[in-house]
Amino acid sequence: MADLLEVPVVLNTERQIIHVDMDAFYAQVEMREHPEYRNEILIIGSDPRKNGGRGVVATANYAARRLGVHSAMSSNEALKLAPDAHFVQPDFKLYKTVSKQVHVIFHRYTDLVEPVAFDEAYLDVTGHQLDFSSSVELAHHLQQTIYEELKLTSSVGVSFNKFLAKLASEHNKPEGFTFVGSSDVRIFLDALPIEDVRGVGKKTLPVMHQLGIYTGRDLFAQKQTDLASHFGKLGYDLYLRIRGVDDRQVQGNRQRKSLGNERTYGPPLDNEEEILDALRELAIRLQQDLIQAHFHCKTIVLKMRDDDFKTETRRITETDFIMNQVDILYNLALDLWEEIGGYQQPIRLLGLTAQNLAPVNFDEITLDLYGE
Ligand SMILES: [Mg+2]
Repeated sequence: MADLLEVPVVLNTERQIIHVDMDAFYAQVEMREHPEYRNEILIIGSDPRKNGGRGVVATANYAARRLGVHSAMSSNEALKLAPDAHFVQPDFKLYKTVSKQVHVIFHRYTDLVEPVAFDEAYLDVTGHQLDFSSSVELAHHLQQTIYEELKLTSSVGVSFNKFLAKLASEHNKPEGFTFVGSSDVRIFLDALPIEDVRGVGKKTLPVMHQLGIYTGRDLFAQKQTDLASHFGKLGYDLYLRIRGVDDRQVQGNRQRKSLGNERTYGPPLDNEEEILDALRELAIRLQQDLIQAHFHCKTIVLKMRDDDFKTETRRITETDFIMNQVDILYNLALDLWEEIGGYQQPIRLLGLTAQNLAPVNFDEITLDLYGE
């Protein structure tokens, strides 16, 4: 009778999903910025010797991890494990900037990018492997590009759903690359320690062990009804997951709405010339962002905030796509600046943004890059 309740398992292997996880991201960024840290045991977090023993580890490099240091551990505990460690205050502004650069690269491959954290994202590249012979080759190219352009390593998992892609990226860190195809699912999941299965946490793990479930293979052998009676909804999910089934979609911003930058100025810009220089700089950055993201736009938006914190925005929309050229973007910014009324008082913030975006095909990008 119980078998009647079993949901038929359908393995949808159509999609091509990539999970990218930057290796020890904050630590790696610090090591890139500060070569002197490269041979150190590095912990990102406040030094317990300097703040009376408080603080937690944000992340640690692999030299520290080998000593047992991990994120969310108290800095004190980390210091006991790694007395020679060098502690660095996290610089989240920097990590966010670098994370943005990583995401610009992701978006060259697909619009369906779901950020999970600063250093982690899912990409649905189904149908995007056009220039590549397979999603594996695309993923390889992506991992290589991140390294070449940002000098940062990542671990990449490729499969046909999010559950498997994430497990794949975790399989062989750092600098890992793991593909799990439909014929690999059983071997891959059977060997998995049960605590590595998403959803099995501190509460469920002891119950799993009581039931004699230690590996994916043990979980696979369970009846769905038994798992449901012990773990409720999670039991149903685990029954499907351990069969390689996961129909969750990659939740990406399908349509990218805008691209651009704003800058605050301290001290405020207090003459026309400085402002025009700043606008040119924003136009240069916008052009770079557009080219990197393979987009062009029809609308340019100028935002400014003056010394009294009064904010104004002006926009201009063209009927045709605007060429990704600095002079063109700069001249549009100038038009908008004049529309606002030019210099009247010091300026604290300027922003230049592109909207009404559309992807540019490859020929046009080449033209823009070399046409100037
Ligand atoms: Mg990571």
